[in-house]
Amino acid sequence: MSEGISQSDRPVTHDAEKGDLFSKFDPLIKQREDLLESGVEDPFNLVMERVLSPTQAICNGRETILLGTYNYMGMTFDPDVVAAGKQALSDYGSGTTGSRVLNGTYQGHKECEEALKAFYGMDHAMVFSTGYQANLGIISTIAGKGDYIVLDIDSHASIWDGCSLGNAEIVPFKHNDIDAMEKRLRRIPEEAGKLVVLEGVYSMLGDIAPLKEMIAVAKKYDAMVLVDEAHSMGFIGENGRGVAEAQGVIDDVDFVIGTFSKSVGTVGGFCVSNHPKFEIMRLVCRPYVFTASLPPSVVATAATSIRKLMHNADKRKHLWDNSQRLHAGLKERGFTLGTEEAQSAIVAVIMPDLEKGAAMWEALLKEGLYVNLARPPATPANMTLLRCSLCAEHSEEQVGTILDMFERAGKTVGII
Ligand code: PMP
Repeated sequence: MSEGISQSDRPVTHDAEKGDLFSKFDPLIKQREDLLESGVEDPFNLVMERVLSPTQAICNGRETILLGTYNYMGMTFDPDVVAAGKQALSDYGSGTTGSRVLNGTYQGHKECEEALKAFYGMDHAMVFSTGYQANLGIISTIAGKGDYIVLDIDSHASIWDGCSLGNAEIVPFKHNDIDAMEKRLRRIPEEAGKLVVLEGVYSMLGDIAPLKEMIAVAKKYDAMVLVDEAHSMGFIGENGRGVAEAQGVIDDVDFVIGTFSKSVGTVGGFCVSNHPKFEIMRLVCRPYVFTASLPPSVVATAATSIRKLMHNADKRKHLWDNSQRLHAGLKERGFTLGTEEAQSAIVAVIMPDLEKGAAMWEALLKEGLYVNLARPPATPANMTLLRCSLCAEHSEEQVGTILDMFERAGKTVGII
């Protein structure tokens, strides 16, 4: 120890900041404090005191229309789904207390995987504890050292984190830019393994990917393709399989990633695939192996919901109508939107800045409407967004009420 500094020799510091690992968060803390000092309600701390239905809750003691959930198909209160959860809770208990590869695979997990295989018409399905973990696990496991991941720069955090967890080279390209993607693929050594990662719907602006063209390019360079269909499952495509189905290219997708936390109406994630060696994933995919499996009640609700989503064409149509009606109505009232036309169940309203965005968010809440306030780093191009996500259970009348609320709030805040 002669050359080192012993504990007692260390200079005493009175600088409270020194060594504080939290000091890196100071700019964010300051931004939050400034925002709250301006008197607005905390947009990231809302409590749903009671949930009345997929489209209504009590927030701050007030009945509120929900326009900022991912409950696209309104399955959370479906009587069959709720009954299946209750039954599994009494039959199998509250949790599995173990990993899928040890004591955590119950009959319900297998049934849920069977429901997914039937829903997608694919050979293999693997259920994860969240969609986040599905991306983390599949991406980091299939693309290893010496392989390349080519991904859209606006990919969801779980995709980026999957890239960080693995050892592949990461090659991002400009959002939805087919030429930029091809340029990246062309530069990668021909013999290297390649994975192209895309999303069906990009959740911030609600825009969809040109999957047909992109997948054709990927295949030209012998790349495997993974598509995250988190925001399209259950809604987009003839059978609700997603954007790849709608664009007629689902058979060319090697891995579809999805979640139970949106249209399915519970929690969990999955990957489906036709790859003949897919089952080996169950032994080598760390975010699958080293975590507890979903509770029996959750997989029972998921399986029931997925089976019902297969036969929901009427609800899908109504959700499209809602989305188009809201998009057109907001545009007509002078709001700036994330897409020219409605492309999904998400309609993003672009705010001039965070301050105005927060003020508008609060004004809408006072009107009795909940939307998502989204801000960087979650949003592209430093945008502040009021993200509206529609539900198949919103009535035509509710959409009209929502538009009136937007108009009044927009005028009060001075946005329109
Ligand atoms: N992928 C995308 C595109 C998402 O938007 C999300 C969640 N918002 C996820 C994956 C993760 O899903 P989960 O909530 O099941 O973790």
